[in-house]
Amino acid sequence: MSLLRAFACLVLISCPVSAQPLGPRGATGASVDYHVHVKGDLTLEDALRRSRETGISYGIAINGGLSFPINSDAGLEAFLREMHGKPVYTAFQAEGREWVRLFTRQTLEKFDYVFTDAMTWTDENGRRMRLWIKDEVGVIADPQRFMETLVERATGIFANEPIDIYVNPTYIPEQLAPEYDRLWTPARMKRIVDGLAANGIAMEINNRHRIPSAAFIRLAKQSRVKFACGTNNTGAADLGRNEYCVQMIRECDLCAEDFWSPPGNGRKAVQRKPLLR
Ligand SMILES: [Zn+2]
Repeated sequence: MSLLRAFACLVLISCPVSAQPLGPRGATGASVDYHVHVKGDLTLEDALRRSRETGISYGIAINGGLSFPINSDAGLEAFLREMHGKPVYTAFQAEGREWVRLFTRQTLEKFDYVFTDAMTWTDENGRRMRLWIKDEVGVIADPQRFMETLVERATGIFANEPIDIYVNPTYIPEQLAPEYDRLWTPARMKRIVDGLAANGIAMEINNRHRIPSAAFIRLAKQSRVKFACGTNNTGAADLGRNEYCVQMIRECDLCAEDFWSPPGNGRKAVQRKPLLR
């Protein structure tokens, strides 16, 4: 690492939070949390106050998809009106694979960015699963086969869905989590990373789940995948200060240039790629 580069990294990691600009524009690295939900006991007012206090800018995300309270443009437009003029990014979290048929580009492109995860999909037997819900996943008898399907579904999402960030990345069901490093083989990691790179999709470094692993992040960095810090909080208590992201910035020598920033108008994923209905 050159002296200049080392200095740049030091600045990114140790930049005093008080020096960050108010509001989201211009901040990067761990000074932005792109995946904050106003839910549970966290109100919008709480979130804005926390952002001011910590100097961490927020992207406030609304979830939408099949069987969600928000499943059409009308709900998204109401959210955008509520956020209008607030010093935050506006984000849409697409849920399930059906979202591309439920919302229009005209509404989606009003958001600063769109993201999704690979935690909801349908297996070869037609079973639609949300990976964080034990009853829907059932007992995974063949973890290797499960991982192959997961990689296929994830890379299918990267190729077909207009998303800016892959969030909750590399998440596997709780029953497999102890085997994370063994199940995410180098070959599988490479397929994920290549899929992201080929489609210009950033990878979240998730604070709540503490994923992806450092090995995964290093591989993604080599392929020039950009990173975005995010929490995916369930309420006020699990919204921290990007602690895992800060740890990964140090462990993986991430610099400002490794970080994603929201695309300008005309370069958003929903403007670059069609919604395949
Ligand atoms: Zn989320």
